[in-house]
This record gives sequence, structure tokens and C-alpha cells, in this order.
Amino acid sequence: MMARSQLGMPETQEMFVHLSKGMVESKDLLTQADKAIGDGDHGVGMARGFEAVLQKLQGGDFATIGELLKAVGMTLMTSIGGASGAVFGTLFRGGAKQLGDRSIFDAEVLSLLLVDGLDAVKVRGKAKPGDKTMVDALEPAAFKSHELRSAPLDESLAAVTEAARQGMEGTKEIVATIGKAKTLGDRSLGHPDPGAISTYLMLEFMREYVARDA
Ligand SMILES: [Mg+2]
Repeated sequence: MMARSQLGMPETQEMFVHLSKGMVESKDLLTQADKAIGDGDHGVGMARGFEAVLQKLQGGDFATIGELLKAVGMTLMTSIGGASGAVFGTLFRGGAKQLGDRSIFDAEVLSLLLVDGLDAVKVRGKAKPGDKTMVDALEPAAFKSHELRSAPLDESLAAVTEAARQGMEGTKEIVATIGKAKTLGDRSLGHPDPGAISTYLMLEFMREYVARDA
């Protein structure tokens, strides 16, 4: 029995179903995290978004990774709404850029998804590293995925998830300067950014799926 070094289309779709269920189940955790430094709506928004993604994924099959990611991104954008909808929708839509003809999800595909997704998010959200946003988890994850783009997928995802976790933890040390938490100033210290937690969790649920015995 071995973890998966790459995924075909049905398994890729299943991985995103697993990710979506995990995000829906993380609603309370994300609500508490956002209440600490924001308005507390992040958990409800993400849960609503991934409920919609679940319905979309269970409603049909996708021929390519690009098609699947675009559907995930569009669904998140329209169902979460607001700034989070734009940012997380952009991550998947931007991440789909070079993946329109791919039908195997491997470490190279993960890297293209995260690197192109990061670029799109930076343009759209106007956030840079150190602003206490999801970029602080996404950027180290994207860099690590590029480094490990030739590794087996399970190995890459384990390291990429750890990079995202460390980046998320690092947001505790940052005073928020943009977004709703900026009004808190120093009181945002000690609390991680909710969007960075979501970014880490999405990767963690992918890692968990791929680490299962095939
Ligand atoms: Mg909020």
C-alpha cells in the first residue's frame, strides 16, 4: 500500500471533494479565528463557498484540471462574495492558467496552480508578504512547490503544507495594516490571519487525501 505520487481526473475530483468537506467542517474554527481580529464572517463565507463547490463537483465530471479549477474558482467567487470570494476565487481561477490540457495532478501541476494562483492573488488583492493576509501562507507554499515540482505528489504536498503552516503561524507576529483587522493595530498580534489559516487548511486536506493508501 502506498500514498499517491500522482492522481488521475476522478481522483483529482475526489481530492477536491475531500478538501471541500474539510473546509465546510472548519466553519467554527474559522469563525473563532476571524472573531479574534475581524468581523467573524470568514467561517460562514468559506463554508458557504465550499458547500457550493461540493454541489458543483458532485453534479458532473471534468475533463481537465483547468476545467475543474475554473469551476471551483467561479463557484467560490460567486458564493462566498466580498473580498474573500474575490481572493479565493482568484487563487483557483488564476491557478488554472496553464492547466487547461492537463489530466494528471502531479507535483508539477500543484506548483503551477500555486505559483500562478499566487501571482493572480497578489495582483487582485494588492497584498504583499508581511501584510498579515493569506499571501503569507500561500507564498512560502508556492515557493516550496516550485522547488519540489519533480518530486512525487505526496512528498511535495507534505512539505508544501508544512511551509504554509509555518507561514500561517508567522502571521501571529504581524500587526495588521490592511483589511478589517487594521483598526485593531497591536491587538491583532498573537492571532493568525483567518485567510492564512484557510490557505493552510486547504493544502492540509489535499495532503491528507493524497497520503491515504491508494
Ligand atoms: Mg471577516
